Amino acid sequence: MAIEKEITLTLADVVTGRLQLAVESALTGSQRLSVFRILRKSIDARGRTIKFNYKIQIYLEGEYVPPAIREREFSPLNADARRVIIVGAGPAGLFAALKCLELGMKPIIIERGKDVRSRRRDLVAIHREHSVNPNSNYCFGEGGAGTYSDGKLYTRSTKRGDVRSVLETLVQFGASEDILSDAHPHIGTNKLPGIIENLRKQILDAGGEVHFDTQLTDIIHDGTKVNSITLSNGDVLSADAYILATGHSARDIFQILYDRRILIEFKPFAVGVRAEHPQSLIDRVQYHCSPRPDPLPAASYSLVHQVGGVGVYSFCMCPGGIIAPCATEQEQIVTNGWSPSKRNNPYANSGIVVPVAWSEMGDFQRFGPLAGVHYQRAIERDCWLEGGSSQRAPAQRLVDFIERKKSVIVGETSYQPGVVATDLNGLLPEWVSSRLRGGFEAFGKKIRGYISEDATLVAPETRTSSPVRIPRHSEFLHHVQIANLYPCAEGAGYAGGIVSAAMDGERVATAVFLQITGSA
Ligand SMILES: Cc1cc2nc3c(=O)[nH]c(=O)nc-3n(C[C@H](O)[C@H](O)[C@H](O)COP(=O)(O)OP(=O)(O)OC[C@H]3O[C@@H](n4cnc5c(N)ncnc54)[C@H](O)[C@@H]3O)c2cc1C
Repeated sequence: MAIEKEITLTLADVVTGRLQLAVESALTGSQRLSVFRILRKSIDARGRTIKFNYKIQIYLEGEYVPPAIREREFSPLNADARRVIIVGAGPAGLFAALKCLELGMKPIIIERGKDVRSRRRDLVAIHREHSVNPNSNYCFGEGGAGTYSDGKLYTRSTKRGDVRSVLETLVQFGASEDILSDAHPHIGTNKLPGIIENLRKQILDAGGEVHFDTQLTDIIHDGTKVNSITLSNGDVLSADAYILATGHSARDIFQILYDRRILIEFKPFAVGVRAEHPQSLIDRVQYHCSPRPDPLPAASYSLVHQVGGVGVYSFCMCPGGIIAPCATEQEQIVTNGWSPSKRNNPYANSGIVVPVAWSEMGDFQRFGPLAGVHYQRAIERDCWLEGGSSQRAPAQRLVDFIERKKSVIVGETSYQPGVVATDLNGLLPEWVSSRLRGGFEAFGKKIRGYISEDATLVAPETRTSSPVRIPRHSEFLHHVQIANLYPCAEGAGYAGGIVSAAMDGERVATAVFLQITGSA
């Protein structure tokens, strides 16, 4: 039986590689170390002395050492395997496909975007030529929205599935084992594409299908079940079940559902800006030292403050990261952030956002369940116009934003298409900007230096979550009206982030299996 121990090291201990020594000293008498594994690693930087806390699993000499992960196995499919169409190759679609294969069903993935390598060329075109391919960009393409991201893997949805199993699957397909033990695991933009590619190869090897450059363009149904779907290449496909895992930016999908009278609902979401600081500033505040010594990762922050009855909060913070141009159509600006695995860029950026509810939709309420889509789109287009009808984004120094004063110039930012100095107060809805100002003032008191000459805001951050919910049966997970249509993950309003989307994909695939085999 492996022994578990809690071990705390100082920064100096870590720098001098004392972990093994500390593990050996934790043994008693005749115990001899065979191997040890880190089960959990976290850094406590609250006090003056930084502590590295480890939970260690120790195997003694002569003991059986089990593998670090349970590898998933995929048997060949039977010729008469039930067919499941999965629309979208994001984390939800890919993990749904793996689960289908494990359950003996044939997944057929339909993806509007390109494979993960070809997709990269379209990202370069956004940066250099300000040209947005509506099917291949930071949100669309193999791997989905999370592919060129920070790859943060933490989730609050621990009750909705097996987080450990998702992490182990990522390790099986190429992620570092560190993600199994880090308190705040992340993968990084440079490593994610290889993992996605390996997942796809597995899906193909096990008998699944993956169709790139293929967009779902229509859903044919009789009010209770889908009969077929139409694709951009003219094909019409039928299957036993249809999983809709198209993400929060597939506005055409929301429109198709609305036009085809398949029930959708307005869902609250959040909008705001990306705030960027020198990483060295965040490191200095969080670690009380400068420069940051080597074993310490780029520091992050998580902030929330109530303003006028709503929580202004930080979202998707990217330490050592870059602000990314995430538009999915030509005439819009959308920001988000990514980081390489080493998080070694000189900037720290984070979304700072305000929730918007139905009551804030004002005139947009005339669009019914699509009100949020039109609200987002209006902000994104206003920002595009302000940026000179290009991918240059409106930006403002944080101090000017708080003082409601147009910035004449802004400092350097990581946003590569470039920025245009402006007053974001006039660009964002007043309800949003006034709350953001209140939030920033409070954050300035929580993190000394947060409001500084070096802090820049880049706008807008609009795609925090889906503005639409596609309602589904609480137990069987199919659409409330259409028995073989399965709304899945972020686009349907049931996940937020890579891990929770992957878990929802697996859950939905299991629900499909139970329904089509009559076990539900
Ligand atoms: C730049 C960026 C950074 C992010 N960073 C992180 C992070 O660090 N950690 C984290 O947890 N989350 C992060 N996210 C959010 C995360 O990516 C999403 O929560 C997650 O990808 C949602 O998974 P999904 O499978 O539900 O949808 P998506 O990943 O959005 O995938 C949907 C897929 O459906 C396809 N599709 C859409 N419409 C159609 C159609 N009509 N026909 C065929 N295919 C279609 C799209 O091309 C896309 O590939 C980030 C997002 C972005 C944009």
